[in-house]
Amino acid sequence: MEVKTNWKVEDLLTIYNKPIMELVYEAATVHRKYHDPNTVQISTLLSIKTGGCPEDCAYCPQAARYHTKIEGNDLMSVSQVKAQALRAKAAGSSRVCMGAAWRNVKDGPEFEEVLEMVRTVNKLDMEVCCTLGMITENQAKRLAEAGLYAYNHNLDSSEEYYEEIISTRAYQDRIDTIKNVQKTNITVCSGGIIGMGEKLEDRMQMLVTLSKLQPASVPINALVPVEGTPLEEQEPVSIWEMLRMVATARIVIPKAQVRLSAGRMSMSREGQALCFLAGANSIFAGDKLLTTPNPNISEDMEMFKLLGLRPQQAFEKHPQPETVEAEDSKLVSLGEKPRWSRPKSMRNS
Ligand code: SF4
Repeated sequence: MEVKTNWKVEDLLTIYNKPIMELVYEAATVHRKYHDPNTVQISTLLSIKTGGCPEDCAYCPQAARYHTKIEGNDLMSVSQVKAQALRAKAAGSSRVCMGAAWRNVKDGPEFEEVLEMVRTVNKLDMEVCCTLGMITENQAKRLAEAGLYAYNHNLDSSEEYYEEIISTRAYQDRIDTIKNVQKTNITVCSGGIIGMGEKLEDRMQMLVTLSKLQPASVPINALVPVEGTPLEEQEPVSIWEMLRMVATARIVIPKAQVRLSAGRMSMSREGQALCFLAGANSIFAGDKLLTTPNPNISEDMEMFKLLGLRPQQAFEKHPQPETVEAEDSKLVSLGEKPRWSRPKSMRNS
């Protein structure tokens, strides 16, 4: 079924500003057309390399230039990742998303390690997602060959507001990485963050851009202000803004899994239930989202029981990719040094 991809910001503002009852009803109707409303995907986010990032994303405690209290760590080993993935699977999670605080993937031993992690987790029959920064087409192909199911690369905000939040790379770099991923059979996961000081029009513009890209998953994050980052004093996002954002995303990107991501700690169960009703059908589980707190998975399972929700099984939406072993691979590291942009001078540390 074809979906509309030529939305305008004005259309989305009209949808977003509808009376809540009407908005939620409309979103829930679209949701039922494309998805099972009683099934919610559970993803586990694993920080495989934490901190020390050279970028200046104003919301992120992992940027080396901000003085935050996070503990950095070097790249995890394949066996550590396997152990954590098995634990997540036993707790009901069907997807492992591995995040590394890198500007972009560099060909070399660490990328080879990540490819081995992808092979290992895919062989556990879990969906494997990576979020590693910018990647080239060849790197995307190598990840696909290892068995990667999804690649996460968020747009964060509108193109216009993006410049206020990140000065060390351009919006077009994000789009280019997403396009590189779309040249493979890896599914795209891309969404954004609300509550960074952007206008409502920026949120809607971001959804317009996402509707053109049609990612398979759309994480909607509410900013978790972290002490030491430039956004540490931002006002929290209200549940009503989150609900309207989820409902609008569901209506304009109907086939995607809309994921309640960062910010769930400050949402009540009632608030989350409203978001599920309005079309959210994925959550991040585990007591940490990279570095910020998140509800514990057993609390989430209690909530699922209360609401009669079922965890989505792995590969319900797309088939499991095959894994090609390293020794059988025909793709090689090209040792590329792509010139991703640095649009503005770096922020002061
Ligand atoms: S969001 Fe990612 S790219 Fe930006 S500073 Fe944090 S780890 Fe680096």
